[in-house]
Formats: sequence, structure tokens, C-alpha cells
Amino acid sequence: VPFAVGLTGGIGSGKSTVADMFAARGATIVDTDLIAHSMTAPQGPAMPAIVAEFGAEFADASGAMDRARMRELVFSDAGAKTRLEAILHPRIRDAALAAGAAATGAYVIYAVPLLIESGTWRARVARVLAVDCEEQVQIARVMARNNLPEAQVRAIMAAQVSRTQRLAAADDVIVNNAGIAELEAQVERLHALYLQIRW
Ligand code: ATP
Repeated sequence: VPFAVGLTGGIGSGKSTVADMFAARGATIVDTDLIAHSMTAPQGPAMPAIVAEFGAEFADASGAMDRARMRELVFSDAGAKTRLEAILHPRIRDAALAAGAAATGAYVIYAVPLLIESGTWRARVARVLAVDCEEQVQIARVMARNNLPEAQVRAIMAAQVSRTQRLAAADDVIVNNAGIAELEAQVERLHALYLQIRW
């Protein structure tokens, strides 16, 4: 089993940016957001279970999940959200772990936005790496990237685990309040650490 790090952080904290920097240094990145999307793509591996649980009207003509319809349902129905997550989360985790086990990089980084929330990830990674960001910086970056109003960004952040909880669960922290050069320097330092302790 390769040495594995779980990378997490709030919305727009810089996870993808950091993951790219580790990839450039030879780590294998397993992105659970990409896996989640493929699960509900046309003929995706979660689609039979979704159709069985929610009905054929939750698949569109291509065989993909009707995202707008599902979003509407889970927004108003917490039980439905739990049932959808019970289908998706174990499948995403198992597909991610299979990809990680087959990795050929120096070590594996699992990018898991909900790592702290989901719990089952903690036992499967040697270290948890959190990307931390001042709230004002985080809000400004997400507003610019997604063209969203501040209130909506704050609402998304409020639904995520708190910064304090995330930092308490992390073994390593990358602070992303400044520029790309400051980020590169921190990634470089952690990459050296991970190469050293991976056995
Ligand atoms: P999400 O949670 O939405 O998947 P993320 O945590 O992967 O986001 P990124 O997409 O890496 O975050 O970064 C969010 C935005 O902020 C992007 O537009 C990115 O280019 C920008 N960004 C990240 N870090 C920096 C930085 N140090 N300086 C300037 N811009 C940055």
C-alpha cells in the first residue's frame, strides 16, 4: 500500500492548486470530486443504485443523473440526501482507494473535500493535510472564480466543517493567504517530508 496523504480544505481554499503542485513533484493525485462526477455520468457505476432508490426519473436521456432534479430533492429532503450519500460515499471511497493502490507516483495524495466530515477517511491515510485560508481571502477568491455573491459563498462555508475543527484534525497545514510563490515553498517543504517518511 503506497504512503497516502489526505488533502482537504474549505471551498476555494486552494486544494486543486496545491494538488497540481504535488503532482508536478511526482505524487499521484486521486481527486474524489472527479470520481464523484464519473459515478453519476452516463452509465456511471452509481446509476443503477440511484435509479433503484429514487426512480428512473432521476436519470436523464443520456443515462446520467439529473443533477438539477436531484439537487432540488436533497435540498428539501434531508432523508433523501442521506440516502444519496449512502449510495455515493462508499463507492467514491472504494474507487479512490483502488486508484490509489494502483498509483505509480512517489506517494498518493487523496483530495477529499469532506475528509474531516466523513470520518472513514482518517484511518486510510497516514497524514491529513489541510489547506487553510483567511475567510476574507477565501470569500474573495470564490466570488471571483464562481461569480457568486458574498452571501452565497458564506452560506456554502457555513455548511462545511469549521476552520477550527479542520485545523485540529490536520497533521500538516498549508497556509494559503498570500501568493503562488509562498504556496510553492510550503509544498516543497512537505514534499521533502513525505519522501522522507513514506516508508
Ligand atoms: P473547491 O473547493 O471549489 O474545489 P479548491 O480548494 O480546489 O476549490 P482552488 O480551485 O485551488 O481551490 O482555488 C480557488 C481559486 O483561488 C482559484 O481560482 C485559484 O486559482 C485561486 N487561488 C488559489 N490559491 C491562490 C493564491 N495563492 N493566489 C492567488 N489565487 C489563488
